[in-house]
Amino acid sequence: MQIITEPEQMQAIAEKLRLNRQFIGVVMTMGALHEGHLSLIKLAQQTAGTTILTIFVNPSQFGINEDLHQYPRPFEQDVALARAAEVDYLFAPEAKSIYPENHQTTLECGPLGKRFEGERRPGHFNGVATIVTKLFHITKPHIAIFGEKDAQQLAVIRQLVKDLNLDIKIISAPIIREENGLAVSSRNIYLSSQERSAAAILYKGICHAAQRVGQQEKNLLAIAAEVEQMILSTPGCSPDYVIFINEETFELADTAEEGKEYRLLLAAYSGKVRLIDNGKIPA
Ligand code: AMP
Repeated sequence: MQIITEPEQMQAIAEKLRLNRQFIGVVMTMGALHEGHLSLIKLAQQTAGTTILTIFVNPSQFGINEDLHQYPRPFEQDVALARAAEVDYLFAPEAKSIYPENHQTTLECGPLGKRFEGERRPGHFNGVATIVTKLFHITKPHIAIFGEKDAQQLAVIRQLVKDLNLDIKIISAPIIREENGLAVSSRNIYLSSQERSAAAILYKGICHAAQRVGQQEKNLLAIAAEVEQMILSTPGCSPDYVIFINEETFELADTAEEGKEYRLLLAAYSGKVRLIDNGKIPA
């Protein structure tokens, strides 16, 4: 595995790979690699001949009161995991080579990037869209794998690829969960063991919602309120938002229609740690 830190060098390698007819797959992460990231790498390797993993804690997607400086950066451990996973290239730039002093141009997402998670974290998806586009241009992939764990991010990236005519296939990967149902996340290390057990309520909420829709309950607002109540009744937990969206449009859904697909999106705190999760719910 080759480790690259400079965008120009990564670009030169990617260009050479393309000239040699290599099919390139990219997995973009902020590091602190875990089972979720490793599943994305596996998926990339199943489709692509060469896999590039990027590790970059992107400052432009963090709000001023968020955890940019505390975000875990266990780089040596990440290198070992990436090597063991047989990644071909690890692109791990420093912030100053991605955003040099005179960096000015950024992307602006439309309405999709401004609701739900975008409303709670103003500018977040603009930062995501900008870094993802930059990393696409640096790694020149044919395919890119993103996790369903960040469902709205995935929708924003699909929209971006469509809107900007990018010739890259986006492949989604299912959510990897811990034994108790908690979605694996780099931020889970902030949880105490009690908070970690309590956080399983998010997945329980998704299962409850799926069961209620399965029982022909059509009122999605009522189901979301039940899930919110489940979270509120869990010691140390509080909901931020619990909503259903229409899987096709990513707009708020209030009533289930037979044959349509919905997704429950949740953001909640366990202690001081903000967690997000989601699950697809067919009606
Ligand atoms: P992050 O490092 O948190 O920015 O995540 C990098 C990529 O890994 C994103 O596409 C995430 O959606 C994906 N990812 C994070 N956690 C999981 C998980 N538990 N299961 C599957 N994919 C995940």
